[in-house]
Amino acid sequence: MKIGVFALQGAFAEHEVVLRRLGAEVREIRQRADLDDSFDGFLLPGGESTVIGKLLGELGLQQPLEEQIDRGIPVFGTCAGLLLLAKQIENQETTYLAKMDIAAKRNAYGRQLGSFTAQAAFADVGEIPMVFIRAPYISRTFGAAQPLATVDGKVVAARQANLLVTAFHPELTADTRVHAYFLDMVRTAAKTGRTA
Ligand code: GLN
Repeated sequence: MKIGVFALQGAFAEHEVVLRRLGAEVREIRQRADLDDSFDGFLLPGGESTVIGKLLGELGLQQPLEEQIDRGIPVFGTCAGLLLLAKQIENQETTYLAKMDIAAKRNAYGRQLGSFTAQAAFADVGEIPMVFIRAPYISRTFGAAQPLATVDGKVVAARQANLLVTAFHPELTADTRVHAYFLDMVRTAAKTGRTA
């Protein structure tokens, strides 16, 4: 399984370590030439959604990535990656890839709770540790998006067909089960011929 990790800005290196540990082949995507049709899945890391979103456009990566998503290639977005995939961002006109039926609230936990950890159930996986860093939450799911985890009544993970998002950073804990969940999605999509 070959996973393309967007390495434009933010916390991509830790994802690469986890994906490799789980047996995936990892390639960094930094420019248009890196993004070809050979990938089985993609990962959009945490960081600053405004910066990553702008770079995706400027580097000519946005449109080819949108096409791959439409072909059914699985994409995992964490934190800023969640914001990049959301169809709506509260109090913000700009959206980016806008592929997932979720509304997200940026920096949703305010200053005091800029960073915190929690332990909560993740559907089909079990209780997992969750690290939040100036995180968004999902204020609304609609259409085909299904919540997978909630913390304090707020949705913090969701799935819609080939798209998976978490508001937290699973790559910053020793628990690799959310990445394994994503690689299962990748495996299934590769087998079933990718219908988004
Ligand atoms: N606050 C960041 C944003 O709005 C996301 C934080 C993160 O990815 N850890 O993009």
